[in-house]
Amino acid sequence: MDINDALFHTGEGSAFTDIPASPAIYQTSNFVFNTFEDMQACLEHEDKSPFYSRGANPTVQTLQKKLAALEQTEEALVFGSGSAAVAAAIMSQVQAGDHITCVANPYGWTKKLLNTILQGYGVTHDFVPAHDTDALLAAVKPETRVIFLESPNSWTYEMQDLERVAAFAKQKGITTIIDNSCASPLNQQPAKYGIDIMVHSASKYLSGHADMVAGVLCTSSKMAKQIFQGPYMTLGGILSPFESWLMIRSLRTLEMRMDRVASNALVVGEYLENHPKVTKLYFTHAKSYPQPELRDKYLKKAGGLMTIELDTTELEQVKSFCNALKRFKLGCSWGGFESLAFPAATTTGSLNYHSDDTPVNRVRLYVGLENPELLIEDLSNAFDAL
Ligand SMILES: *Cc1c(COP(=O)(O)O)cnc(C)c1O
Repeated sequence: MDINDALFHTGEGSAFTDIPASPAIYQTSNFVFNTFEDMQACLEHEDKSPFYSRGANPTVQTLQKKLAALEQTEEALVFGSGSAAVAAAIMSQVQAGDHITCVANPYGWTKKLLNTILQGYGVTHDFVPAHDTDALLAAVKPETRVIFLESPNSWTYEMQDLERVAAFAKQKGITTIIDNSCASPLNQQPAKYGIDIMVHSASKYLSGHADMVAGVLCTSSKMAKQIFQGPYMTLGGILSPFESWLMIRSLRTLEMRMDRVASNALVVGEYLENHPKVTKLYFTHAKSYPQPELRDKYLKKAGGLMTIELDTTELEQVKSFCNALKRFKLGCSWGGFESLAFPAATTTGSLNYHSDDTPVNRVRLYVGLENPELLIEDLSNAFDAL
């Protein structure tokens, strides 16, 4: 597959026909039919033929075809948030009595889904350190139905050996799911290694402009059908035609944005790696990254996320550093145009994010599309305030 085909043509009708340069927004809740027969025929393929927009909608389908092409899967479904995609993927595969093996410290609301809702429905889990593929496989039990991966992982970017996990799981009939948000489908395509379901927070790179919340799930036709009939239609966490159109628009520049993010991140990462006021740098493309083999095997390029620990144990110092940042705005999320800093110590009173073992001096940075020299200048000023 050529990336250019996926971004610029896939799902938009064939060349040589009269098609709009920008796909139409089918802003409609339902579709109407001339005859009983037409209506009945449509309902036989409700996952493919537009009938009602909680199911198939042409604008949404155009987006889904592009995302499937990017992840090299047969199908994709899009959702109103990344968390909806994660929940749909997991809940389509488990029932009471089943067990999930999950990387430790996945995205906060994924962790909460396992700890609260699924636990309440009788689905158990174990969290296993995300750098340790051996331990992940050793934690599998006879009742394990899902292995849930995040590679690179949230905040600390540990990686798992996808090919090994997929081969092991296939033998045992276990479904493998990966949250691939951090890499993006341009930098890592887990389906090539046999992972069954890829989910993304499309609020990050795929939409890329900090203007929407959305989720993506990519998988085989067989699983997509099962998920469509299950959580997609019943929980109904769909993406609107307009937001699907916005994401199609964003995909035109995905490759350029990811290139810029990668080159910016390398420059900023190198600056941080050598800085005396940084005691620890978590970044897949740092020289000190502890899993270079997995990085080189699975990741085409760097992403914009990196986490630092400042040379202080005092909260006041951390505040001074953060408050001195001007170009890096303080905020959650990432993957947009704008550089962001997320101090872990802000989360102590949060509904979900806080974990007692998170060091007070930890700050996650997202390097966006700005001039990297200006970003370094901003960080340098903030280090002076420390
Ligand atoms: C943001 C994020 C999510 C959740 O996605 P939303 O679009 O915010 O619902 C899931 N996984 C990872 C790794 C994320 O960073």
